[in-house]
Amino acid sequence: MAIQWFPGHMNKARKDVMERLKEIDVVIEMLDARLPASSANPMLARMAKGKPRLMILNKQDLADPAITSQWLEWYRAKKQTQAIGLDAGERAPSQKLVAACRELAPNRGGLDKPLRVLICGIPNVGKSTLINSMSSRKIAKTGNMPGVTKNEQRIILADDVELYDTPGMLWPKIEVEEGGYNLAASGAVGRNAMDEEEVSLELLKYLLQHYVPELTARYKLDEVDGLQDWQVLEMIGRKRGAMLGGGRVNIQKAAEIVLTDFRDGNTGRITLERPQEWVVWEKRAKEL
Ligand code: GDP
Repeated sequence: MAIQWFPGHMNKARKDVMERLKEIDVVIEMLDARLPASSANPMLARMAKGKPRLMILNKQDLADPAITSQWLEWYRAKKQTQAIGLDAGERAPSQKLVAACRELAPNRGGLDKPLRVLICGIPNVGKSTLINSMSSRKIAKTGNMPGVTKNEQRIILADDVELYDTPGMLWPKIEVEEGGYNLAASGAVGRNAMDEEEVSLELLKYLLQHYVPELTARYKLDEVDGLQDWQVLEMIGRKRGAMLGGGRVNIQKAAEIVLTDFRDGNTGRITLERPQEWVVWEKRAKEL
């Protein structure tokens, strides 16, 4: 597998989450809308089995809206699962969250049995941004709930709805090769765990398949029909003046340009995986 990323502490995070889950009614998993399946933590899915789940497709402002709709439908078709799209521009995120959670756990709520939800997500999906936006005025001291250590965040979303932040870090777990590349392209994988040239070539390959107009517009390329990913990377390097001596392209620089543009949304609203593609990738990974 090309992208290897095991930052450790996985076991501790798993134990902490398992302990916390006992008291939780709804598990929220925050995903990156540009790579929903790749940014999920497969371990969390196994731990939360049997509990209602809310998938948040965050950063939807950066993702392809048509594909976000496909993913929302895909998740909503699963048992006990709800899904919503979100981004940092949402004015009332807590209302959206509360409505979806109530739907998932209709028999919870009211002051005698508050609805308790846990929010999880791999680093960089935007969890802190969301929590901060919801917690102005509302951060509560953690009570004496079993398994809740002091200093852990509990946010009161409504009188009878409490949101808990995941204890510890939930790192991505790469089980599907394409998912590793997508995580790397999104910036969720440390720089020293990947080869930027390789990741940018995989990204370009996908853009050539699905986002030719965005690609040609961004880099003012005339024609990419029939070109290979590496040829396009060279063209981009030349267009951007990423050159070494002797008329050679500085490929590393070109790769960084392609990745940064994607991460910042400069290439357009792009999603790196479709549900049907993911099914194929996952099947292949299992067969290996
Ligand atoms: P965390 O590691 O999950 O807590 O992620 P952060 O909240 O620190 O966000 C990671 C990066 O994504 C930051 O640069 C945020 O500004 C950015 N970010 C968070 N939410 C959004 C969003 O909805 N849209 C966009 N475009 N960027 C976001």
